[in-house]
Amino acid sequence: MLAELVCFESQCRARYGITEVLYNCPRCGGLLEAGYSGWERDAGALKKLWRERRLNNAPLDQSGVWRYRECIPFLDSYDRVVSLREGNTPLLDAPRAAAYGGLDRLLFKHQGFNPSGSFKDNGMTCGVAQALRLGMTRVACVSTGNTSASMAAYASAAGLQPIIFIPHGNISYGKLAQALEYGARTLQVEANFDQILALVRALAERLGIYLLNSINPFRIEGQKTIMVELMDQRDWNPPDWIVLPGGNLGNTSAFGKALREMLEMGLIPRSPRLAVVQAEGSAPFYDLAHSADQSALRPVTKPETLATAIRIGDPISWPKALHEVRSSGGVVEKVSEQEIADAKAQIGLCGIGCEPASAATLAGIRKLTAAGVIRRGDDVVAVLTGNLLKDPDYIYRYHTGELTAPGGDKIQPTYGNHPLVVPNDPDRIAALLA
Ligand SMILES: *Cc1c(COP(=O)(O)O)cnc(C)c1O
Ligand SMILES: [Zn+2]
Repeated sequence: MLAELVCFESQCRARYGITEVLYNCPRCGGLLEAGYSGWERDAGALKKLWRERRLNNAPLDQSGVWRYRECIPFLDSYDRVVSLREGNTPLLDAPRAAAYGGLDRLLFKHQGFNPSGSFKDNGMTCGVAQALRLGMTRVACVSTGNTSASMAAYASAAGLQPIIFIPHGNISYGKLAQALEYGARTLQVEANFDQILALVRALAERLGIYLLNSINPFRIEGQKTIMVELMDQRDWNPPDWIVLPGGNLGNTSAFGKALREMLEMGLIPRSPRLAVVQAEGSAPFYDLAHSADQSALRPVTKPETLATAIRIGDPISWPKALHEVRSSGGVVEKVSEQEIADAKAQIGLCGIGCEPASAATLAGIRKLTAAGVIRRGDDVVAVLTGNLLKDPDYIYRYHTGELTAPGGDKIQPTYGNHPLVVPNDPDRIAALLA
C-alpha cells in the first residue's frame, strides 16, 4: 500500500510524500488529499474482519474510526494512535421527524454521541495521529467551536500541547468550556476568522506547530469512516440519500471521498446522493451550486446564522465538496433560521436532540420533499453532527420565545415548551395537569 499526498486540482495532481508537512499544494496552491494505490480488494474478507473487531477489546478495534483502518491506510504503524473510543455512533429511527420531513421513514446517524460531542472527533484522532508521527509537540487550530473542543481533547490525551486561536468576543461558551477543561492554550485575537487563519499559518512554520484546521487531509480521512460505519450498520445497503449540513465543507468532502472509495473497493453496489444543507445567511456553497459559473466560489463577507457551526462565509473545501456533490448526483439546499429552529424542536420531540447546525438537515429534507427532489418513499439518512448540550442557551430561548435571528427577527416558538411557575398548591397543580 502506497500512501501519498495528492493535489486535488485535476490539471495539477502533483504528488508529495505522506510525511511532508503541507497544507496546500506548493505547485498550484490547490487542496491536498490522501491518495492510495493498492487497495485491499477482497470486500467480503474486509466486512468479516470489521465485524470480528467489534468483539475485540483492543482500543484500536473498539474505535469506530480505526476499526476501519484499511480504508484510511496513511499510517505505517498504529503503536502511537490515541483513541477516546470515537465513532460507534448510533443509527436512530425517528418516525416523528420523518413525518415532519415528508418521508415514510428517516434514520439519523448521530455524531453527537462522540467523546467531545461532535463528528470532529472522527477526524481529530487521525489528525493527532499524523502530528505524533511527524514528531510534532504542538498543534493548533482556528475555531470558535467544535474543532477546538475536539482538538483540545485529542491533543491532551496524546500528550501534545493544544493551542486554540479564537476571534475575540466571538465565543460559544459550551464549546470554549470544553477547550479550557481539556487544557488548551486559548488565545483570543482581535481579528476575524480569515485574518487569524493567515496569522496562524505564518506562525505555524516559525514555531513548529502542526495545523489541524479542517483543510488538514488526515482529518478528512477520519471523517470518511462515518460513511463506512454507516454502511456497516446497514449491512452494506446504501440509502438513496445522505443529508448533512455544510459549513467549511470538510464533511461533504469526506463523505463523497468515502463513497467513491467504497464503490471502488466493492464494499457497496451503488452510491447514495449527497444533499448538503446550508443556513440562508451563510450559504456561499448553495449560491455556487445554483449559479451558471461554477469556477469560483464567491465568499459571503458577513456570514450570519445562529447555527454557529455552519457560520462560514468562505468554505475552504468547496472544490472538493462541489466535485462530490456533482459526482454523487447530489443537491445543495438552504434553509431559514425559523426552519432550522422548528426542525430542531421536532428532532427533540423524537427524544434525540442535536445542536442547531445539525437540525438544518431535517429543515432541508422538508423543503426537498416539498419540491419533489426527495420522494416520500426514498431511503434517507440524515447526519446529526453535534450534541444537544453544545448550545443549551439557544434551546431555552426558543422554547420561551426569546430567540431572535441575527437580523433581529423574532423566531416564533412554533413548538415551544415554556416552563411554568406554579404555586405550592396541589389542587391548582392537579387542575393544571388534568
Ligand atoms: C463542523 C460542524 C459542521 C460543519 O461541518 P463542515 O465539515 O465544516 O461542513 C456542522 N455541524 C457541526 C455540529 C459541526 O461541528
Ligand atoms: Zn497542485
